[in-house]
Amino acid sequence: MALYVKKFGGTSVASVAHIQRVADKIIEDKETGHDVVVVVSAMGKETDRLVSLSEEIDYRGNGASRELDVLLSVGEQVTISLLSLVLLKRGYQAESFLGRQVKISTDSSHNKARIVDIDTKEIQKKLENGVLPVVAGFQGEDERGNITTLGRGGSDTTAVALAAALGADECQIYTDVQGIFTTDPRVVENARRLERITFEEMLELASLGSRVLHTRAIEFASKYRVPLRVASSFDTGPGTLITYEEKSMEAPIISGIAFEGDEAKLTILGVEDVPGIASAILGPISESGIEVDMILQNISADMSTDFTFTVNRDDYSQAMEILTKVSDQLGAREVSGDNRIAKVSMVGVGMRSHAGVASKMFEALAKESINIQMISTSEIKISVVIDEKYLELAVRTLHAAFDLEE
Ligand code: ADP
Ligand code: ASP
Ligand code: MG
Repeated sequence: MALYVKKFGGTSVASVAHIQRVADKIIEDKETGHDVVVVVSAMGKETDRLVSLSEEIDYRGNGASRELDVLLSVGEQVTISLLSLVLLKRGYQAESFLGRQVKISTDSSHNKARIVDIDTKEIQKKLENGVLPVVAGFQGEDERGNITTLGRGGSDTTAVALAAALGADECQIYTDVQGIFTTDPRVVENARRLERITFEEMLELASLGSRVLHTRAIEFASKYRVPLRVASSFDTGPGTLITYEEKSMEAPIISGIAFEGDEAKLTILGVEDVPGIASAILGPISESGIEVDMILQNISADMSTDFTFTVNRDDYSQAMEILTKVSDQLGAREVSGDNRIAKVSMVGVGMRSHAGVASKMFEALAKESINIQMISTSEIKISVVIDEKYLELAVRTLHAAFDLEE
């Protein structure tokens, strides 16, 4: 007998009919004799709807992030109740749990809280008594009793953290695709499902834009050695297992392609090339809570320096305002920006031992006349920034150039 934590995402619980199908999956395991703890997301686009209600009020001052969490956590409460009702009707002793009823303790960073502790006593007691716990994903409680949420897509993290705390045999993330693919199957139709992928690669793909798994969930699973599987809630099939790299595994050069559409870049030209200039430019940006992604510094012919960095598109106008002020202070020649850029990244542990991946990537993009604006590399990934309008073409081109298709 095994213990599985099974998580079902928004599209998998989008209607009561969907929830009935989710119940089938749970019952199948129960009937085989396994113990199951379920984690669910809000129904379909419910969290988006709640976000847009708050946007109508458009208040971002003191106290706003706390109230947003109170609002956003509502979505999951609806699903745990409906799924429990379905399971009860089918004769299973289901019981719903909010984050704070479990209890899932987080820090106080509203809208992006981190789980610091999970008390599993209550859930364990329920399991011993044959109860099927149905837990609300995405939410927790800080030490002062405030409701917190874990950031968009955070139900994955609830599931993995619960699996780690309970010592579950596997954490199964059920979603609307059949596993992890070489790239988003909605963009490249003949993308190939991966049998396995390493934590390291999955972490890169997720943080470079593949929203299929919450980045924190992968970090948790890797740290606490939770076997993690992504599979379809609409189909049977093994899905994809996320594992440690084994010596015997043949490392593919490229495992997957990730992309991010909503990026923007800012450039400041002709600042003095002296120590401290990077922090003078980026300090005020990060102090205002804006996350900077890629950074590029370059010496011009006149020995002054040019500086370009990328941010999320939502932060573009605020970043531009700050940079313009900095530019005045530093006596820079010019500030410019582009909020229509995108980032495409190729990830694979096999890159470590293979040269020539970058040049093959650049060549493939050049053949399609796609101009590369910025490049950044690490041991197992290469990212390029391009004009947003070529994003899908670039992904398809690279997918084909590296023979990733089915
Ligand atoms: P859920 O609501 O179940 O949490 P998400 O929308 O968060 O589902 O994640 C699933 C989606 O992730 C898929 O529908 C797919 O479009 C997208 N996706 C992006 N990259 C990949 C990839 N490499 N493999 C599989 N799915 C991907
Ligand atoms: N409902 C939340 C969201 O839409 C959490 C999740 O689905 O994982 O982001
Ligand atoms: Mg998700």
